[in-house]
Amino acid sequence: MTTANATASTASDPGRPVNLIGLPRAGLEEFFAGLGERPFRAVQVMKWLHHRGADDFASMTDLSRVLRAKLEEMAVVAMPEVMAENISTDGTRKWLMRLDDGQRIEVVFIPEKDRGTLCISSQVGCALDCSFCATGKQGFNRNLTTAEIVGQVRQASRRLQGVVTGRDRAITNIVLMGMGEPLLNFDAVLPAIDILLDDLGYGISKRRLTLSTAGVAPAILRLAEVTDVALAISLHAPDDALRDQLVPINRRYPIAELLDAVRTYLGKIGDWRSVTIEYTLMDGVNDSLEQAEALANLLADLRERSKINLIPFNPFPGSGYRRPTEARVRAFQTHLLERGFATMLRTTRGEDIDAACGQLAGNFEDRTRRRERYIARLKDHGVITHQAV
Ligand code: SF4
Repeated sequence: MTTANATASTASDPGRPVNLIGLPRAGLEEFFAGLGERPFRAVQVMKWLHHRGADDFASMTDLSRVLRAKLEEMAVVAMPEVMAENISTDGTRKWLMRLDDGQRIEVVFIPEKDRGTLCISSQVGCALDCSFCATGKQGFNRNLTTAEIVGQVRQASRRLQGVVTGRDRAITNIVLMGMGEPLLNFDAVLPAIDILLDDLGYGISKRRLTLSTAGVAPAILRLAEVTDVALAISLHAPDDALRDQLVPINRRYPIAELLDAVRTYLGKIGDWRSVTIEYTLMDGVNDSLEQAEALANLLADLRERSKINLIPFNPFPGSGYRRPTEARVRAFQTHLLERGFATMLRTTRGEDIDAACGQLAGNFEDRTRRRERYIARLKDHGVITHQAV
């Protein structure tokens, strides 16, 4: 069973074919040991799956006929299917990908001169409902499997073949910053990270693989025990009162607890590495100079170990927030620079195709009724007159 859309599963679903895309090297070795095969089979098969992009076992000609027949029975090679591709005037690409249960997610590729960043999703929707995020407004359906997370990278690599020229690989950086909170899908995300870092997988450097979290503090501590990929924190506010409104998970894990977890993570990953602080600037909400000063004070002890990414808000219908003027954005940045923080202004990319930060919405069945309430609110306020969201 090797069709591209076959039912995705993992090694932990007994009786169902295993989707080999979702098994890291150790898991594949275990899988082959179960078939009475030697560990080097995992090496062979990973190369076929992730380097050569094989979709069927018949093409894996260095495996015996008998083994290929066994794999046909017990395993699949399945990845999300591309339903639509949008290409921005700035070269950013957004794909709407369909999962085997019909849910849809979005994946974005951002080309730059010296690198190509792929922004992937970890959940169908997101349960956290940050007030300025389009994904949050769509509600939540389910966690992605490891195979579905890795499958986004595999599918994107295929779609980018021949598109990016002048360097070995189109995708040099991966950010877990699309739909969903990766640390609330820890058990699927971790093996996906393994595969993305592995030379037999996608060979992404740990400094170029970034996990972005809204602040699930205990899971950051857990992460520190098992990996050392780059970490980004969606902070967006310098104090708990405001962050409680913008990023509701702050009510559970307030800023002090979150930053303690970040310090622990930094302590584990080495002295020279830093954390990225994401800060979406919204007009009149969190963009004053007093707030820049409060942010600098809050992060004072992390100044040498952090980079602040300022993201001017990307509007979407009914969000209720506005993007600040360029002058306000620059003033906020200048203040942080003067306080000694490495502070970048993130250029908005892919805005014309709704691929910019916070704009990903996918198209899926919401289990939380949040989308329904959001649409009702838009109608109440006259933002829409029919279901356009
Ligand atoms: S910002 Fe991230 S964590 Fe918050 S709702 Fe959006 S996807 Fe979820």
